[in-house]
Amino acid sequence: MKYHAHFSCIRGCPGEYPLYQVIYVCPSCGGLLEVCHDLKALRQQGPKDWKQLMDARVGSTEWPYGSGVWGMREWVVPDIQDEHVVSMYEGNSNLFWAERLGDKLSMPNLWVKLCGNSHTGSFKDLGMTVLVSVVKQMMANDSTVRAVACASTGDTSAALAAYAAAAGIPAIVFLPSDRVSHAQLIQPIANGAHVLALDTDFDGCMRIVKKVTEDNSIYLANSMNSLRIEGQKTVAVEIVRQFDWEAPDWILMPVGNLGNISALYKGFQLMKDLNIISRMPRLVAAQAARANPFYQSFSMDFKERVSLSAQSTLASAIQIGNPVSYEKAVQAIKNTDGLVEEASEHELANAGALADHTGMYTCPHTAVALAVLFKLLNNGTINREEKVVVISTAHGLKFTRAKLGYHQSTLSEVESQYANPLMTLPEDASAVKNAIERELDKHA
Ligand SMILES: *Cc1c(COP(=O)(O)O)cnc(C)c1O
Ligand SMILES: [Zn+2]
Repeated sequence: MKYHAHFSCIRGCPGEYPLYQVIYVCPSCGGLLEVCHDLKALRQQGPKDWKQLMDARVGSTEWPYGSGVWGMREWVVPDIQDEHVVSMYEGNSNLFWAERLGDKLSMPNLWVKLCGNSHTGSFKDLGMTVLVSVVKQMMANDSTVRAVACASTGDTSAALAAYAAAAGIPAIVFLPSDRVSHAQLIQPIANGAHVLALDTDFDGCMRIVKKVTEDNSIYLANSMNSLRIEGQKTVAVEIVRQFDWEAPDWILMPVGNLGNISALYKGFQLMKDLNIISRMPRLVAAQAARANPFYQSFSMDFKERVSLSAQSTLASAIQIGNPVSYEKAVQAIKNTDGLVEEASEHELANAGALADHTGMYTCPHTAVALAVLFKLLNNGTINREEKVVVISTAHGLKFTRAKLGYHQSTLSEVESQYANPLMTLPEDASAVKNAIERELDKHA
């Protein structure tokens, strides 16, 4: 294989580490690592050839290229062996033209990247296919690693458990008690992971899993592990490819631990380095106001890194107070002329419900990004003619309780403007007819 990648410190300390070494932070400064690719080698192939190669692999049945992630293997982990790839053909998700929602907003060019239409129902699959594949190769080569582990707000554990099960590797997941949805809780249980519910929040679980993985026999699968970022960055490439290799004007996404926005930035940066795109889209990080450390930092021009105790929010997967990938995300915002905005519970719930009425089925996190979009349109930051992509991070089916509460108008801090309550009627044809008439009159 003529391509090569290794870990290096994001702060520029010297040192290169193999991707198959158990290492998460820089030994010199404790900063995060990132996967660095040999750009000189990658540049030997021109942009046209790269585009052709990646286009040709979409939908392939040749292992492992049918995966949206492994269809870009040269840009992800170039030297993984085919037999160690653990894939469920994740990625290649629909870039949905949100025509009706766009109509309501006078936006002809609104798109939603449906990353939740995936094996375990969230974009976390994209990172886990990479991480678990690398672990499988490590274990095949007599590594000390015996299991993989993560702290999670629900979706990371679902993805880790599924990919670990597919690989035959034991998984241990740490969840904050009573803070993940039932659908998310049952996923790792069903996949046979060792599920530990701790009486703390996500940040507390993160502290414990870091301690437990210190001796290198259990491999840490949180997004401070930059292998995950390599898989998730393929979303940027997919979006550009789906627009016939053009970058959109804006990308809005919900953020918690700040891994995914760092990943998208890295994907766009790579395409810029390879002359595949000529400009970066502007990245918008959307936070729930009840868990908004990154928004607070941004409001201070990033002069201070804020960490706080996150309050409970409908957007439970981004209820994080001390985001791990802070430094990477600051670069992503600064280098794309991006920004950070927040949304209240009321705003996010109604934004999601409005989108659902146009045929989507939004998760509460995607709803945060939509609420932020509405704000940025109203204050003139985003021009209605521009091409905007909202990243939908998970499938709405995982968040039934939040939707039910919305339509029953029982959510706290939320006034349900688009509630569609269930109608309970007697077995009486004329009562039913009358009810239908009343309902249809509402449309007139
Ligand atoms: C993990 C997750 C996020 C946030 O991604 P980060 O990398 O933690 O910023 C957003 N939405 C959903 C549904 C998630 O599972
Ligand atoms: Zn360093």
